[in-house]
This record gives sequence, structure tokens and C-alpha cells, in this order.
Amino acid sequence: MKIAVLTLGCKVNKYESDALEYQLNLNGFETTDVLCPADIYVINTCAVTAEAEKKSRQMIARCKKFNPNAGIFVCGCASQNNSVQFLNKDVVCVSGVAGKFKIAQYIAEFAKNHQKTQKKQQFIDDLPTEYEDDMHAKQNRTRAYVKIQDGCNNFCSYCIIPYLRGRSRSRPIFSIINEVASLDENIKEVVLTGINVTDYKIDGEKGLGILLEELDTMGKRLRLGSVEDTLVDEEFIKKLTTFDNFCPHFHLSLQSGSASVLKKMNRHYTPEQFENSVGLIRKYFPLAGITTDVIVGFGDESEEEFEETLNFVKRVGFSQLHIFTYSKRDGTVASKLYKDLPAQIKQSRSDRLEEVAQTLKNNFIKKNKKGKVLFEERVDGFYVGYTENYIRCYVKSKKDITGQILPVKIGRPFKDGAKAKIIKKI
Ligand code: SF4
Repeated sequence: MKIAVLTLGCKVNKYESDALEYQLNLNGFETTDVLCPADIYVINTCAVTAEAEKKSRQMIARCKKFNPNAGIFVCGCASQNNSVQFLNKDVVCVSGVAGKFKIAQYIAEFAKNHQKTQKKQQFIDDLPTEYEDDMHAKQNRTRAYVKIQDGCNNFCSYCIIPYLRGRSRSRPIFSIINEVASLDENIKEVVLTGINVTDYKIDGEKGLGILLEELDTMGKRLRLGSVEDTLVDEEFIKKLTTFDNFCPHFHLSLQSGSASVLKKMNRHYTPEQFENSVGLIRKYFPLAGITTDVIVGFGDESEEEFEETLNFVKRVGFSQLHIFTYSKRDGTVASKLYKDLPAQIKQSRSDRLEEVAQTLKNNFIKKNKKGKVLFEERVDGFYVGYTENYIRCYVKSKKDITGQILPVKIGRPFKDGAKAKIIKKI
């Protein structure tokens, strides 16, 4: 029996899907993470925006096109948020966030009964939000996402995640170290992920520095997932310079460059504080990749507020921007306080910001002459991977270089990154 585990949304969701695939493999099922003909589909949904939730629902119909008789299991944030939206005759089970790890067991039962009766029985799993600690990602890549934390205490006014995934809790350090130690040799890079990685704690105290110090000795490149401005203090950044394997790439969540919008978002920093953090990072890592997320059209964002963001983003000179168009999420504080701006205003702001993002990205690429790339895949005749500071490089090579970390000379911007050539040494 073949099971397709399909993921929408963030790296934490992908990590959890991989862990589920791993469990299913242990139970003897063949799995894939691509949409293709299968007997069972697991859709791991996302609720970060109304659009993500819609795409999660649409995935049911997309699976049905491949196999109208397949058993469909739905889990993840969107089903935790509103399980009823996924109940239709094709769906066998709707589970929530933590409940997704019981799906392997439900699938085993379903597979047994299905063979006998060919009849689907529909049910909704209970939807708790406890922390699952004993999961391990499937290992078939050059880079592994390792989850270190779940939940969030920040309650940004636009975000529904703290209501779906609960309060912040950190995975015990020994459990993370064990997982990294058990990764295959072909995995050369570990990305530490979580809903709010910045909040990683050991015995109730800030723990990311200690965790990185331990992992640094394990011979894998280390990259942080999305972090908050509060992570950045001089002692911590200075400590990072002492690690051999730390990748100087900081995905520092901005959301807006306007002080008034940040306040309405319930984000606890000002643009000035954020800029100081970036300055501190660049003091110790002059060529750090500093990437960010920006939400355009939040609440009643005025043209002036948007322009503050536009100017801020240019001034900081991010190496990449992920732009999100704001959409109201029921159940959040912002949905009660603000009307939605017209779609065309939001789209036009998003387009203007996108143009700036492209220029900034190209500027950053031009500043970088060399780097070390972990080659992950082959795309259109190029070997492709990322430098330590997160420039996606495209290299031609006669030999298969997938899975290797090699020094490159970085050339001109190309596609979503840059062309590059392998060199002997940096
Ligand atoms: S930090 Fe804010 S945006 Fe991020 S998960 Fe927590 S509440 Fe949501």
C-alpha cells in the first residue's frame, strides 16, 4: 500500500510530516512526499493565512483526481483551527496538531479494515496540543530539519498559531542531540526549527547558545530557522563566531518597518531596535545573510506606514524577503480590531515590495565573491545548493556532486540565486 504524505506550510510542518513518514515506513508502508497516485493520502495542513487554509482544503480534490477511492487523512494546523471544514465523504480521519502522530496507527487499522470491507469509516480525532518528543525525521536528504521547540507565547495580534499549537515548550537537549547523532552521514546540514526557535529553553533559561555549542562538535553544518529580534545580544552573537559549523544566516522576523504597525501587531520591538540587532550581527558577521518576513496591508496600514516599511527594508538591505499579504484570521485580536484593506491595495503594495526585494537580493549576491555550497539536487542541468549565508548557487559539473560541500566562486544573479563555479579552495 502506498501512502502520499503531503505538506503545506512551514518547516515545522514538513519536519512533522517526515517524522510521520518515518513511522509509516517502520510499519511497512511505502511512502512518498509528492502528489502522485497512492492508496492513502495524508494532508498535513497549514492555517497561517486564509489562503493557506483554502489550499489545504483544495488538496483533497487534487488527491482525488489521482485516486477517487483513496483514503484521505487530514491533520495539522488548519484542521486544528476548524476540523469541520475538512469533513466530506472522501475524508477518513481529521486529526489536529499533536494528534497527527497517532495517524500511523489509524492508517494501520484503516488499511486492515479497508482490505476487508472496502468501506470508509469517518471520524475526528481528539485535538490536543501536547508536545511529542520521540519523533525522528525521515533521513533521505543532504539537509535535515530538526525540531527543537513547539508553540509560542508571543500572541502577535494577527497570528492564530499560539491558539492552535499552544504555549511554548522546548524539547529536551539530550533528545535533540540523540536525533542529530542518529542522522545519516549523507546529511551534512542541520536546520534547527520550531514555531519560535528564539524561545528555546533549557531548565527555563535561554538555551540556544548551549544547544548550538553541543551540536557544533557533531560535524554537521548548523543553520537556525526563523528567529526573533530578541535573540540578538552581543554575548550570543560573539559566541556564534567561535563555532566551526555555524552558518551565518539569520532569518530575522520583521513583519513591518513601521513603529505604529508593529505596535498594532503586538510585536515587542521598534524599527530602531531591529536595526541595531542587524548592526550587531553585521559587526561579527559582515557578510551574514539576513533574510526576513514582511506582512503587507496589515489591518488599516496607511500608505505612509507602508512606505516606512519600504524605506526600512531598503535601509537594512535584507538579502531576501518573504512577503505575505495580510488576511484576517478569525479568532485573532486583529480580526476584531481592523477591517481588511481592499485586495488591490494589498496586491499593489506586495508588488512594489517584491521589486525592492529583487534588487536587494541581487545587491547581496554581487557583494559575495566566494562561498561553500552544500549541493542538494539537480535542476535543469545544474547542481544546486546553498552557501552558508544562504545564496542559492547553480553550478555545472560533469561529476555528480550531490551531497558534497564545495568551495565556489559566485557569479552573476541567475534564477532565484546565482551562477557559480567550483574552485579549489576559498
Ligand atoms: S512569534 Fe508571533 S507570528 Fe510567530 S508564531 Fe508566535 S505569535 Fe505567531
